[in-house]
Parts: sequence; structure tokens; C-alpha cells
Amino acid sequence: MKSLAPAASNSHYQLMLLELRGISKSYPGPDGSAEIAVLDQVDLSIDKGDAVAVVGPSGSGKSTLLNLIGTLDTPSQGEILFEGRSLAELSELEIAAYRNRSVGFIFQLHHLLPQCSVEENILLPTLARPEKGAQSNFRERAQTLMERVGLSGRRDHRPGQLSGGERQRVAVARALINEPKLLLADEPTGSLDQSNASRLFDLLYSLNREEGLTLIVVTHATDLAYHIPRILKLTEGKLVEETS
Ligand code: ADP
Ligand code: MG
Repeated sequence: MKSLAPAASNSHYQLMLLELRGISKSYPGPDGSAEIAVLDQVDLSIDKGDAVAVVGPSGSGKSTLLNLIGTLDTPSQGEILFEGRSLAELSELEIAAYRNRSVGFIFQLHHLLPQCSVEENILLPTLARPEKGAQSNFRERAQTLMERVGLSGRRDHRPGQLSGGERQRVAVARALINEPKLLLADEPTGSLDQSNASRLFDLLYSLNREEGLTLIVVTHATDLAYHIPRILKLTEGKLVEETS
């Protein structure tokens, strides 16, 4: 089987992929009342090839943390570095490339386009990449990914013709089509039953182990987090390393 891993970087000496330095995030309270601090001086280092689960109850700031890493929101304080570069210093174009190419996102709801086939949904993130002759490579990669996530024979199905677990696996394949270096998954099993949820965690963790994909997965389901060896708990704005 072809490897799904991103092309190896030639900077072997640089293992760190992502670093958060003193990240705080506050939101304005309702009608101008005092700010609500969601994240408080969070530090985090993630090496290439790491798999990390972030756990914490609803409202603890898990989505806020992922949104900051994904540049969907900006920190109130602190700095986020990706491959040694501060995200705050990237140009608009570089930010767009970072979101489309460097990171892949999976959300609780898969956000698939209902009128498009499985293959078309997986190929969506490549539409912004008009590289010459690339389309057939993307289709080949989509095929490899469909096999990898267990969707062989579903290429022409519409999302409405799939089970919840299958739809979420389409979302995984779509998140990986541009060979991201980092996969961010926000409650990816939130809409799945227990056995499909467990299967999805197995898939994510096997992509990490077998393909070297760096993974940050957020969940309130601590029983699922234990599929992943490194667990960080978010409580009162702080990230605490759990020892299992
Ligand atoms: P989690 O994903 O762990 O459930 P969130 O990161 O979504 O938590 O939210 C953390 C806290 O931040 C919650 O109290 C939420 O109400 C608040 N919050 C999140 N987004 C906003 C926003 N855009 N404006 C104001 N408050 C927000
Ligand atoms: Mg959330």
C-alpha cells in the first residue's frame, strides 16, 4: 500500500512541529461585563509524529484551543509557532495555505456536501490547488484514502446513503487529501455511537502510528481518549499532562 505520510522534511534536526507559548484567551462577558478567561498561560510542545488527546468537560476551552491552533481565532496573549514560525507573522496568503495544506480539520459534524459523491467530498480541499496535472494524482490519493479508512466501494455514494460512521470516515479522508502535517480533530466522535466512536479513534491512532501523522484530538469522552498514549487535561484554563 502507498504511504499516506507527508513527504519527509529535510530538516531532520527539527523535531518540534507545534509550540504554544503562554497562550491565553479571554472572551468578552455578556453585555460588557468582565472578560471570561478560557485559556490561561497555556504552554504546549508537539513533536512531529506525536499523538495527543485533549480532554476536559464541556465549556473547558477545548474547541477554543484547537481554533487557535487552526488560526480560526487569535490568542489574547502568547505565541503559537508552527515549524518554528510564529502564526501571527504569516501573511494572509500564508495563513490560507496553512489552513488548507499544513493542517487538516475534522469536526463533530462532518459538514459533507450532500449533493456530492464521497469522492467529490474528499477532493473538495484540492479545488483551491490548480497545479498542472495534479487532478489525477489527487484522484489516485483519494482512492488510496478511501481504502485506508474503509470506504472501498463507496466512491459514488452520496453522504445520505452512508452510515454516521462512514460519513465521519469521509471527513477523515477529506482532512487528509492535502497531506497535512497536523490533523486537528474536535470531538470527531460526538455524533457516533460507542462502537463507531471506538472504531474512529482506532483509525486516527493507526494513522498516527502507521503513517506518522501528527494528531491532536479533542474529546470530552475520556474512555475514548485512552486509545491515545499522551493525554492532556484542560481544567480551569490550564493544560495538565495526565499520566496513565
Ligand atoms: P469546549 O470546546 O471545551 O466545550 P469552548 O472552547 O467551546 O469549550 O468554550 C469555552 C468557553 O468559552 C465557554 O464558556 C464558552 O461559552 C466560551 N466561548 C467560546 N467561544 C466564545 C465566543 N466566541 N464568545 C464568547 N464566549 C465564547
Ligand atoms: Mg468544543
